[in-house]
Amino acid sequence: MNRRELLLQDAEHVWHPYSSMSGANPVFPVASARGVRLQLADGRELIDGMSSWWCAIHGYNHPVLNAAIESQLQNMAHVMFGGLTHEPAVTLAQRLVELTPAGLDTVFFADSGSVAVEVAMKMAIQYWAALGQPKQRFLSLRNGYHGDTFGAMSVCDPVTGMHGLFTGTLAKQLFAPAPEPVFGQPCSKAHLQAFRTLLETYRSEIAAVILEPIVQGAGGMRFYSADYLRKVRELCNEHDVLLIADEIATGFGRSGKLFACEWAGISPDILCLGKALTGGYLTLAATLTSKRVSDTISHHEPGAFMHGPTFMANPLACAAANASIGLLLSSPWQDHIRNIEQALERGLAPARELPAVAEVRVLGAIGVIELKHPVDMKIIQPAFVDAGVWVRPFGKLVYLMPAYVIQTQDLQQLCAATVDVVTRHS
Ligand SMILES: *Cc1c(COP(=O)(O)O)cnc(C)c1O
Repeated sequence: MNRRELLLQDAEHVWHPYSSMSGANPVFPVASARGVRLQLADGRELIDGMSSWWCAIHGYNHPVLNAAIESQLQNMAHVMFGGLTHEPAVTLAQRLVELTPAGLDTVFFADSGSVAVEVAMKMAIQYWAALGQPKQRFLSLRNGYHGDTFGAMSVCDPVTGMHGLFTGTLAKQLFAPAPEPVFGQPCSKAHLQAFRTLLETYRSEIAAVILEPIVQGAGGMRFYSADYLRKVRELCNEHDVLLIADEIATGFGRSGKLFACEWAGISPDILCLGKALTGGYLTLAATLTSKRVSDTISHHEPGAFMHGPTFMANPLACAAANASIGLLLSSPWQDHIRNIEQALERGLAPARELPAVAEVRVLGAIGVIELKHPVDMKIIQPAFVDAGVWVRPFGKLVYLMPAYVIQTQDLQQLCAATVDVVTRHS
């Protein structure tokens, strides 16, 4: 199919994420991707600033990941996980248990981040049901984002979570204000007052607190105090409420720690992983929990956890995940993240002087330019492409989260192009 035909057919039949079929916003055909570069069908080459939404941490078309999948393909692409098991899944589960914060010993594989969140919520509900103290509500944070399925939507920020339209059909959850103290600041008693009041008032109804540790992603790209997270963990213990940490975006090094919970030195009762889990190759997610939760669920009526996706623990995806984790751990990833952090800090700093910019902030391999007004995607998206970079803003947020393997010069060019486009088009 030539490029023109492809675009015509795409506009006619294909829906893209959070987009309309009116054809108002352009899409750009990609022919291939290698390292940190996307090769467009028209021959242009873009430096990728997005890692395909936090996922492609080792860059595209990586020989080690390619080989892992090709090798697994020779054995089997997929088998059902009911009643069967296989080496790629067991190895991956073992590794995740080892790498994640202490006390998470049971792994449930799912096929996307949103489903991992549904699974986490169902675990929490089944845990309390098993104990004969049914609790079915969740306490979440404003500016949180946890996915697009119904359970996940119900705990997203009702305004910035992009799901306001569905309010009527969503379970009514509880929302505490977004954490006020920013990353690096202490958290006072006053900062937690509203959260504590909700927890005290509704403790007999709340199955779990759910939050994104340290980095609130798609709901606002905010970095908050580790002290806040530590105190939330203490409050959950005090009030006998489970803590679900959604590390789908932050997992595997993005914030500068392997898992963002480590900034606060805490372990959640339930942990969701996804996105970078397979290095951006295949869709796979995991929900981990403690023996306390999995044993309680398993030893009471109905004696089973009530979830089981068709493509659970897909062997190709598990093989990719094992290879991706191997690559990450055998690389000096902390140095890479620290270098990216410094380069983002330096490269995006000039944006602070722009009248249209509200704030510039950087943590680990995440750089954010928050504007005072939402961007016009029809104008800014082609401008980024013309500038030779792939950057996809949303609302007031222009942000970068490059692959960990990006070279200094590419990163400098990415930052300079980003600041230049923001200067001209916001
Ligand atoms: C992306 C994301 C999800 C949803 O994951 P999908 O794979 O898109 O379903 C959930 N929580 C967080 C924090 C995310 O960033």
